[in-house]
Amino acid sequence: MGKTGYFTHRDCWRHEMGRGHPECPERLDAIEDRLLASGVVDALERIEVPLATLEQLKLAHTEAHVEYLQSLAQRLTEDAPAGGPAYAQIDPDTCLSPGSMLAARRAAGAAIAATDAVMAGEIDNAFCAVRPPGHHATRGQAMGFCLFNNVAIAARHALEYHGLKRVAIVDFDVHHGNGTEDIFSDDPRVLMVGIFQHPFYPYSGTDHPAPNMLNLPIPAYTKGMDVRELIEAVWMPRLEEFKPQMIFVSAGFDAHRDDDLGQLALNENDYSWISGRVRDVARRHAQGRIVSMLEGGYNLHALASSVEAHVRVLADL
Ligand SMILES: [Zn+2]
Repeated sequence: MGKTGYFTHRDCWRHEMGRGHPECPERLDAIEDRLLASGVVDALERIEVPLATLEQLKLAHTEAHVEYLQSLAQRLTEDAPAGGPAYAQIDPDTCLSPGSMLAARRAAGAAIAATDAVMAGEIDNAFCAVRPPGHHATRGQAMGFCLFNNVAIAARHALEYHGLKRVAIVDFDVHHGNGTEDIFSDDPRVLMVGIFQHPFYPYSGTDHPAPNMLNLPIPAYTKGMDVRELIEAVWMPRLEEFKPQMIFVSAGFDAHRDDDLGQLALNENDYSWISGRVRDVARRHAQGRIVSMLEGGYNLHALASSVEAHVRVLADL
């Protein structure tokens, strides 16, 4: 049995974007409850999550972006006693609440700590149950429920701090990881492989992607078996050829057939299969090193069971 780290923090519950918003704190409850009820949590190593420093956030973001979100959060807190607004709107889908900066810095902190623990050999791989998600956040812009790009911060930390030469980012969220693409386009140290519904939010990823971006846009209602075939035919040879020293996963589960935010038709078995293929590449080339970060997944039941399927593969259960 491998050793899998489980990274989460109560601060990640403190970011909320208003009643009825699908990217809600209850997502983390659903995951925790499921891992507990299934007994999977007993096989995981629970590891402390620090706050990411502002310097660490700047691994993937401009100084202006970090300062902008900081100042919005600060204004919310300062205006609260005088009855100021409860939220600071960033785009039609994304806003800050008073707890958002703390949550976002824990999410990025989990990404960094998971990378450190895997690199130190304390654990084989890691799953971070954190929010807000990150893969839509570009170098200079928060959008699509995302404030800071957790997976990109972790990947850059592995390159800059740990001195790795090649890392892969696997993104199976139903939405294109435009933020991660923005941050790593034309960086030969990074290979990003992604699959996403198209045409669909954020309507990117198809217009001449950089050579290190392997984007697989697929139409609505594509079934899991067809997704598996594509992954086998297109992702796998590139990953094998690239020989990543570590793999980061943007683990979004909103391509599940029961998830109303997307129209793809994956199920838990498909998530197991994809996770297994990623694990195979990691074992062959990267000493098994995987850091998986939660992205989307909005049907609470489907999210919980898909995360369980994913984590079971990571932990060899
Ligand atoms: Zn998504």
